[in-house]
Amino acid sequence: MNAKKVERDTTTDEASYDEMLDDSYEEIMIIGTYYTPSIALKRVDEVAYNCGFADFSSSLDDDFGEKWQCDECGEVFDSIEEAEQCCNYGGDDDTDNL
Ligand SMILES: [Zn+2]
Repeated sequence: MNAKKVERDTTTDEASYDEMLDDSYEEIMIIGTYYTPSIALKRVDEVAYNCGFADFSSSLDDDFGEKWQCDECGEVFDSIEEAEQCCNYGGDDDTDNL
């Protein structure tokens, strides 16, 4: 086995989640000061915020799919088979052939 699963960078997900919230809802004005929906929701109801974020990132996961990276050269493939075969010149399980 010389392939490893590629993990998506989830830190950018939260930024796009906030952006989605801010695009979907009006800013909230309290005593003359405006608050962005993402910040307001996070402060007021963090459970709802996290719950929405979980749904949001699982919808992103569907788009991303699974990616596999060759451990040797770092090239990324859509399937584990391709990644394993990338730098595998054959016969690694078959030491009798040497
Ligand atoms: Zn490779």
